[in-house]
Amino acid sequence: MGVSLFLLAMAFSPSAALAGQIGAVEIGDSAVTVHFDDLVAGASAFLLAGPDRIALDIAGAQPGQSPGSGGVVRAVRQGQQSDGSARVVLDLAQPALVKEAHFAADGRSLSFRLQPVSAEAFRQAARAPRVELQPPANFRAKPPEKRYSVSVPIGTPKPALPLPRIHGGSNERLPLVVIDAGHGGHDPGAISPHNGRYEKDITLALARAIRDELVGSGRVRVALTRSDDRYLVLEERYGVARRLKADLFISIHADAAENQEARGASIYTLSEVASDREAARLAARENKANIINGVDLSGHDGDVSSILLDLAQRETMNVASDFARLLQREASDEVKFRTSAHRFASFVVLKAPDTPSVLFETGFISNKEDAAFLASPGGQKKIARGVREAVQLHFARQIAAVAP
Ligand code: ZN
Repeated sequence: MGVSLFLLAMAFSPSAALAGQIGAVEIGDSAVTVHFDDLVAGASAFLLAGPDRIALDIAGAQPGQSPGSGGVVRAVRQGQQSDGSARVVLDLAQPALVKEAHFAADGRSLSFRLQPVSAEAFRQAARAPRVELQPPANFRAKPPEKRYSVSVPIGTPKPALPLPRIHGGSNERLPLVVIDAGHGGHDPGAISPHNGRYEKDITLALARAIRDELVGSGRVRVALTRSDDRYLVLEERYGVARRLKADLFISIHADAAENQEARGASIYTLSEVASDREAARLAARENKANIINGVDLSGHDGDVSSILLDLAQRETMNVASDFARLLQREASDEVKFRTSAHRFASFVVLKAPDTPSVLFETGFISNKEDAAFLASPGGQKKIARGVREAVQLHFARQIAAVAP
């Protein structure tokens, strides 16, 4: 009895019954109008770069079937989201920003102007959070009931691993930082041509040094994704952070390059589009950790880079970017950084939608000085101190930001 009542409630939930449908999508040279056959609850717009797209989420609406193109809009696609909203995606023939977006006075349509911009300006704008738009109060449908908090399909690791130990006491009010030692087990990562050291061993030594330094500060709790020489697929790494509800995730790596002169640390945060060719190449290489002998061990089908990033993830990405800047600033007294040290690329290990995540490439083990620095306890301690300074400041700022 209880079960059938529940099913009925799902089938006839008011949000489903009252949803307006998206009607015509009119596309002019520089203006777009999306019509609805009934009231909708609201809308939000955001940009996705590479390929360049404008995405509109219409709350409390069902997708229609209007195809369309014109001006800089190559095509229009629509789909239903799991939270009861409809997503309209405009594929762009050239980068353009959404300007002057507004609902009509009767709430039955949403219009905006498209302003062509440079690829760089578009990329910048695509990093901003989405813009929320409200229909006029008298012509607004009730917002749909949210059934899921996160609507991004992400790869799920198959059997859940046992959770690692949390260091730094049992005070659950202290923020939790998850440190991920890159590579491990049958995946050695890069190999130094100078001292023959494996990246997987360097990253583990660094992760331990950072853990000890952070625990010593008494301000945070720490867990390691691995504390020995074992292999984890990338989803299991951020999966640990998600399952522990971590407040920050730092994946530790060491880079290698053909050019043995290349040296210095850099910090990467997630973006669908890489900030430069080198960042894209590095992401491709790090993402290969999931593929052994041509078999993809991550269990996700389809191209991870094509996942649409959700609102929660965009906010998370902004926090991660702030931390990346802080880390460079705080660690640069003791660690040599590259000139453009904060970069963006589509790293699988950074895809937790709700944990701010950075990938710290601590230096080049293909460079003689860097390789010696990273292999030495002294160098490892310097890196760990830099991370500690940045982590302390990061959480101090967050507490200051939410205080009344
Ligand atoms: Zn690596």
